[in-house]
Amino acid sequence: MSKPVVSVVKFNDPYLSLKEAIDLCDGLKGLNKSDKILIKPNLVEWYMEESFPPFGVVTTSAVMFALVRILAEEGFRNLAIGEATVLPLGTKGRDVFKALGYEKLREDYGVELIDFKEEKHEGVDFDELKFFIPKKVLEADKIINVPVLKTHAMCTVSLGIKNLKGCVDAKSKKLCHGKEVDLNHTFSRIAEKLPVALTIIDGVYTIERGPTYVGQAFRKDLLIASTDIYAADVVGAEILGYGVKDVPHLEFYAGRNGRSTDIADIEIKGDIDSHKTHLEWEHVWAEDGIGPAFFKRLGITGLTVRKYDNTLCTGCVDRFNTAINLLATSFKGKPFDNTEVLNGKKMLSKGGFNKTVLFGKCICEANKDNPNIKKAIPIRSCPPNIEKFIELMSEEGIEFDIEASLKFRQFLFDRYKGKEEFDFSLFAAQDGASRDGSCLAR
Ligand code: SF4
Repeated sequence: MSKPVVSVVKFNDPYLSLKEAIDLCDGLKGLNKSDKILIKPNLVEWYMEESFPPFGVVTTSAVMFALVRILAEEGFRNLAIGEATVLPLGTKGRDVFKALGYEKLREDYGVELIDFKEEKHEGVDFDELKFFIPKKVLEADKIINVPVLKTHAMCTVSLGIKNLKGCVDAKSKKLCHGKEVDLNHTFSRIAEKLPVALTIIDGVYTIERGPTYVGQAFRKDLLIASTDIYAADVVGAEILGYGVKDVPHLEFYAGRNGRSTDIADIEIKGDIDSHKTHLEWEHVWAEDGIGPAFFKRLGITGLTVRKYDNTLCTGCVDRFNTAINLLATSFKGKPFDNTEVLNGKKMLSKGGFNKTVLFGKCICEANKDNPNIKKAIPIRSCPPNIEKFIELMSEEGIEFDIEASLKFRQFLFDRYKGKEEFDFSLFAAQDGASRDGSCLAR
């Protein structure tokens, strides 16, 4: 049996490098000229504020523009780009598409821009699971999947298979983070039913402890492409420092689909050894479990924030990070009143605390009759409302330093400021991507 082919190409020029990556793996072989082609980038979060660093978080516009140009030159006319940006909650797709310059792709190539959140969805059965998928995804003849080369704080890596979780509605995403099912065994099923003809992993940037901007981004200048989504992911994971056995959703996918877990069973066109690195994926918690490791450095006492688990949905992750930040920046040396914070869907208080913050509807539900809780501070909404959190904590005598917490966001952004390799123009409309092809996208 022939091996699946994965190309690995150094990113120099967006158009030429991508063309090389696609040609090396014969990436357009499964596409017909009349196909409705849906391109699925990873635009999981996009903050309109200038202080949002997109590096290693979202697919670069440079790669998207080059891809559309290549497809148009090859005679593919029926093109769409679709995504459902999750964070911040309530973000409109059209605003994100505009910020990334995609309107120019609509003007120059007639590319349809689809915000999945505004589309009709249909239920699709995955044995015991039912996911709701936008009709426009189901109606696509072929999908070109364009994830980012990144690590993920719950799934180890987020590549082609994980990017498809963006194709299900909010309710289905919550189902993926279920109490009874393992996250890695849910979203990995989606790839089995969607017509992904080509996966292009955008490795212009990568991020440690992703998938959001809280992680540390690096310039990587790499493109990985394959008509085989699993093979592309295996190579992407290897480059990030992980074999299939280190990545539960890849191992699960391999088991279900009779795939080899040995990278030697993939034909790699290009050099991966010089690009291999090891990026950490997990957020480090203090050994005694009181909270993220930096709680120890700050000398925080009287507070225990339990480490997130896989049941914490993406919407909750954002609020949880904000809550941690608010708690940390409010600490001025006075110990908290022996307070614990529970999150996700299944943590149970074991007692021993004066106060228990129940962060979100699910955890309120899970602990509603828990006799171990002395005093509950319930944030009942889904996802948890930060204003309510601030209000209830204030009633407990904890005043948050909003200014300091905003500075933390700025601090994360400032890590990239003034560094030439962190180039914001790669996340905007690209010159020269018009159909006349008079110059290359740069
Ligand atoms: S409260 Fe949080 S964990 Fe529960 S369903 Fe809502 S977003 Fe998910």
